[in-house]
Amino acid sequence: MLPLRKNIAEMAGYVPGFQPPDADQWIKLNTNENPYPPSPRVVEAIRRELGENGASLRQYPDAGSRRARQISAELYGFDPEWVIMANGSDELLNNLIRAFAGEGEEVAWVHPSYSYYGTLIEIQGARSRTFSLTAEYKLADFPERYDGKLFFLTSPNAPLGFAFSLTEIEDLACRCSGMLVVDEAYADFADHSAMDLVHRYPNLVVTRTFSKSYALAGMRLGLAIAHPEVVAALDKIRDHYHLDRLALVAAEAALLDQDYLRQRVAQVCTTRERFSERLRVAGYQVIPSQTNFVFVAPADGNGQRIFEALQAHKILVRYFSDPLLRHGVRISIGTDAEMDAVLKVLESA
Ligand SMILES: *Cc1c(COP(=O)(O)O)cnc(C)c1O
Repeated sequence: MLPLRKNIAEMAGYVPGFQPPDADQWIKLNTNENPYPPSPRVVEAIRRELGENGASLRQYPDAGSRRARQISAELYGFDPEWVIMANGSDELLNNLIRAFAGEGEEVAWVHPSYSYYGTLIEIQGARSRTFSLTAEYKLADFPERYDGKLFFLTSPNAPLGFAFSLTEIEDLACRCSGMLVVDEAYADFADHSAMDLVHRYPNLVVTRTFSKSYALAGMRLGLAIAHPEVVAALDKIRDHYHLDRLALVAAEAALLDQDYLRQRVAQVCTTRERFSERLRVAGYQVIPSQTNFVFVAPADGNGQRIFEALQAHKILVRYFSDPLLRHGVRISIGTDAEMDAVLKVLESA
């Protein structure tokens, strides 16, 4: 027997959404990737950084991601000390737990939301607590005063797609004596963001990813906005060269091309609304979404049945066997043509 830590030996490990080896044979709507390419300026920036022979790769990248932080800070209206870049927002979730929760200490998250928090908590040897949702998508039984070390609130929620209001988030920030982390992976598709509240609540952290709205899941990029003391703590913990040179120039170029982002986001949202409406007419329950996916339930409440019907047509969506989620499936929003293919199957399934 290896001398593994007990929690590592006993844990199962996270299972990410399926990435089929023959991805181009599928309509792939299971991991909320963007159907459109990233900004052409991102591609240009990567080519420029590589140059003719990749000579720049000989040298380490800027360990402090200074230019990307500066650009993010200007974009979101903060000083650069309030920003940290990351190797995917998953890196931030991990390092927040490492920074704030010791072994045996409590970290909370909402069930259902992003179950990877649970895995990261297990790795740290901290204790998971989950809060559930009411039928109206409000938090059930959240205490007047919550003294866990961290509370992860996914807003907009994944996999359901609704967002918590700013009033609710502000109220939670007041009730948490520990940190409130609002995971805004999908906020670019939503009509509001909690980012401005970070100015006023030192225990509030907002995380973002470049994987969905910026179409850069393959580059592994994220960022957080937080009080400078929080940023300084996260800077101590992270790998010093966590972002490679290509990722850094990609992040900078993507952030600087907000017109492209807005245009692609609008396109996805238009498709999402058209798709949702057609499904409702066909008798499906579709939760109004503030994201680039929709949670869809057939009238018979059998999510596995429609997952399999779509799979038979080489369309991959996400089915969760969780009792709270198995009545439906989560479908990422692809191009109009891809969503028409889904509609064709679901309208006769
Ligand atoms: C996709 C996603 C992430 C992970 O983002 P990466 O930047 O790709 O690590 C984090 N949280 C939620 C809720 C997500 O859906």
